[in-house]
Amino acid sequence: MPQLHETLVPVFEEVVARNPGEREFHQAVREVLESLGGVVAKHPEYTDAEVIRRLCEPERQIIFRVPWQDDAGRVQINRGFRVEFNSALGPFKGGLRFHPSVYLGIVKFLGFEQIFKNSLTGLPIGGGKGGSDFNPRGRSAAEVMRFSQSFMTELYRHLGEYTDVPAGDIGVGGREIGYLFGQYKRITNRYESGTLTGKGLSWGGSQVRTEATGYGTVFFVDEILKAAGDSFDGKRVVVSGSGNVAIHATEKVHQLGGLVIACSDSDGYVVDEAGIDFELLHEVKTEQRGRVSDYAAVRGGSARYVAGGSIWDVPCDIALPCATQNELGVDGAERLVRNGCTVVAEGANMPTTPDAIRLLRDAGVRFAPGKAVNAGGVATSALEMQQNASRDSWSFEYTEERLAEIMRSIHDRCLETAEEYGQPGDYVAGANITGFTRVADAMLALGLI
Ligand code: GLU
Repeated sequence: MPQLHETLVPVFEEVVARNPGEREFHQAVREVLESLGGVVAKHPEYTDAEVIRRLCEPERQIIFRVPWQDDAGRVQINRGFRVEFNSALGPFKGGLRFHPSVYLGIVKFLGFEQIFKNSLTGLPIGGGKGGSDFNPRGRSAAEVMRFSQSFMTELYRHLGEYTDVPAGDIGVGGREIGYLFGQYKRITNRYESGTLTGKGLSWGGSQVRTEATGYGTVFFVDEILKAAGDSFDGKRVVVSGSGNVAIHATEKVHQLGGLVIACSDSDGYVVDEAGIDFELLHEVKTEQRGRVSDYAAVRGGSARYVAGGSIWDVPCDIALPCATQNELGVDGAERLVRNGCTVVAEGANMPTTPDAIRLLRDAGVRFAPGKAVNAGGVATSALEMQQNASRDSWSFEYTEERLAEIMRSIHDRCLETAEEYGQPGDYVAGANITGFTRVADAMLALGLI
């Protein structure tokens, strides 16, 4: 494990002691602190004002009961969370995740990452995250609606366009945002569009928001390739996952001349040498709410489904982990390196374990972290907020160009900062330091709050 700067050792120990058992949160904090040695050495004012210790403690954490009735009339109880982590740069902003793995440690890791990601976009948004251990899999639309309404019946009092603005994440897409916004509107009697992002196009949503995380991920990789005088042309790409991020990353890779040959879900993966048919995948996963095995069955011919196993066995030039945290470990990273992969960029949040990141980087693979790579989703949420505030709605082309420009600027600032701190080409250091300094300077300016 890399050393922490001496002033950061007690900070990390305090985080572990105060947040027992929250493994993912410790991992996310450690990963950022490992990058900040050079910054604290150069800027004693951050340490004097305890900026990093303050950053590691959320401004507010809300945990609540979510009672609802299933289709059989039974009462179900879930737990809801919203961690309002840092609002130095703007209202708390970040998605809601509905998944059985959700507990406080997951929400805190995601909220912590969100602070730096949102800062990297250069837009006025603070960091937060929320969700529930509710499992939408196998639930009817009516059950998802009743759950979402009950969830919002508690959460609404903490939200507002100037306070806290949720969006989607795993298990929360356009349908759920609709149910959540409907309930918010009903309770408050106000059509406050800017309180939730990821809305439908006909009721305050933004063009490109659905596609934004996947598209942004691929725009970022395009910049990595361009920086090395290369392009997507003819590249074989493996995309893990098959949700919103994976689907639209696949679409954009194909538009830029690469070929996505595999995608996955928690049951297995599919290899399609003719290239994953993005429209079919979209239909199977989003409209039919099916699995990648269904995709393989409908596609036939070129598609081969592998139950279980690891998608990282599939040889590729570029790997985009777009599923969930810690999905790419040392074994997968070893196989990627052995099979000649040269770029790994995280479309999901913290999908690569720390050991796997070290292995990839030691092997000369260009590795780019989620907080930079997948920032296009939240950046487009901020563009949605802008449109809501001005009661405007922009074209697809204009919005996509804004997104591409934001991704270019994040990429370039990461590289410039890495260079400035003597770690040229290190996207992890570049992202963490750039994200951190903008928030830290705002916290210093706002005084001890
Ligand atoms: N859940 C997304 C993320 O991880 C988007 C958050 C948002 O748009 O607020 O960044």
